[in-house]
Amino acid sequence: MLGGMGAVFGLLLAWAAQVFAIEVDERIESIEEILPGANCGACGCAGCSNFAEKVAAGECELTSCIPGGKEVADQIAEILCLECQETVPLVAVVRCAGSHEHAGDKFIYGGAVDCRLAEKMWDGFKNCPYGCLGLGTCVQVCPFGAITMGEDGLPLVDEEKCLGCGLCQDVCPRGIIDMIPRDYSGGLVLCSSTDRGKKVKEACAVGCIACRACIKACPEEAISFVDNLPVIDVEKCTDCGECIQVCKPGTIRIRKAKVHQ
Ligand code: SF4
Ligand code: SF4
Repeated sequence: MLGGMGAVFGLLLAWAAQVFAIEVDERIESIEEILPGANCGACGCAGCSNFAEKVAAGECELTSCIPGGKEVADQIAEILCLECQETVPLVAVVRCAGSHEHAGDKFIYGGAVDCRLAEKMWDGFKNCPYGCLGLGTCVQVCPFGAITMGEDGLPLVDEEKCLGCGLCQDVCPRGIIDMIPRDYSGGLVLCSSTDRGKKVKEACAVGCIACRACIKACPEEAISFVDNLPVIDVEKCTDCGECIQVCKPGTIRIRKAKVHQ
């Protein structure tokens, strides 16, 4: 009798184990293993594990892991048996050259060392309402230690360390950090002021005064003007340097690509 009941319970347990078994998606585990593990949140998910779950469920782009870049996207595609989408490796640039030497302050700021808070106090302490506040909030958020503050009061991006995750861009209250293609060589406009020339001149010695000499000088017609600022078409710019020659304040610099990925 007892033996018979035991057999029945055994069968019931085996049946329950099958019915209520939690299916483990091995693809999620495999994806998690190849992620950088930085938990930087650049993909828009709550960390790498959450990204692995979402991408396996098709709720996230394969290419969303910015630090992992194309290599990780390719591996995820292989795991999920999908064709990989192309990713363009990016790098951060700070669109401001208004160092301590070139751009002054309108008052002495003694508040918290956080650009976001300083910005809220009378629109920041700089004469230029667009320029870098220099309190290094971008430095603090970079998960890869790719930004340091230079002695001139401007952030310096180490292109070897920057993985283009864009966290610094998101946090900068002045919106002066841009992500550009890592392999771009050519002109970079290091000013974000949309003010007119006279006002810019009063605030910063190296700000763009919107004289438009660069447009005339560019042999490739790669420059246009938007909101009193030159915009350089990265597809057209051939790195000739003509715009730099004519820019009186020295707002335009040449970037030479250092490709390391
Ligand atoms: S770039 Fe932006 S976040 Fe970084 S120091 Fe300048 S104002 Fe602050
Ligand atoms: S510098 Fe900016 S974009 Fe580059 S890794 Fe650091 S936070 Fe990300």
